[in-house]
Amino acid sequence: MLTNKCARHVLEEIVALFPDAKPELNFSNRYQLLIAVMLSAQTTDVAVNKVTPALFEAYPDPASLAKASPQEIMPYLKTIGLYRNKAKYLHQCANQLIERHQGEVPGNRKDLEALAGVGRKTASVVLSVGFGIPAFAVDTHIHRICLHHKIVDPGATVRQVENRVTEVLNEDQWTQAHQSLILFGRRVCHPRNPECHEYPQLFTCQEEV
Ligand code: SF4
Repeated sequence: MLTNKCARHVLEEIVALFPDAKPELNFSNRYQLLIAVMLSAQTTDVAVNKVTPALFEAYPDPASLAKASPQEIMPYLKTIGLYRNKAKYLHQCANQLIERHQGEVPGNRKDLEALAGVGRKTASVVLSVGFGIPAFAVDTHIHRICLHHKIVDPGATVRQVENRVTEVLNEDQWTQAHQSLILFGRRVCHPRNPECHEYPQLFTCQEEV
């Protein structure tokens, strides 16, 4: 595993490659953000962006979504993975928003993670993007990149990656680091043909602990 100094260097070099990286999911309020992030599990943002316009038109707020049955929601999600489960989660989550939070998306991790279909990663994205609260969400690409660049020890879990990155970066860097690493994963670290050889600055600091 790299020293704190080198881990920080690698992460900051990745952020410097994509300093303006932003979420690629389309949304216009926190309700839409939460739903879009929930739908993005195990599918692409592009695929989610294709289904959300019709979904949000039919169900513009938690109250309308809560009234719909999973069977009514499913046809809107048919082109994305796990759509049956996602329709059930959306229905349950909307009802919980109404029952527990007056139809608002809560702005704290405990309440977010208590919602159906909302795990730590989704909560982190909603907190950081929707509320401006520092958080570093780790998806499978960020996990892989941090393992490969020795930000963490071999075999480190998703949670260990989150702990390490939030330890070596300042709080005000977490949200951008998440966005930049995701874009780095998409644009540079293609699974079959990574272009890392074009970025030697990522490999200059290699001291390990
Ligand atoms: S394949 Fe290349 S770009 Fe991807 S994580 Fe490994 S070193 Fe980085």
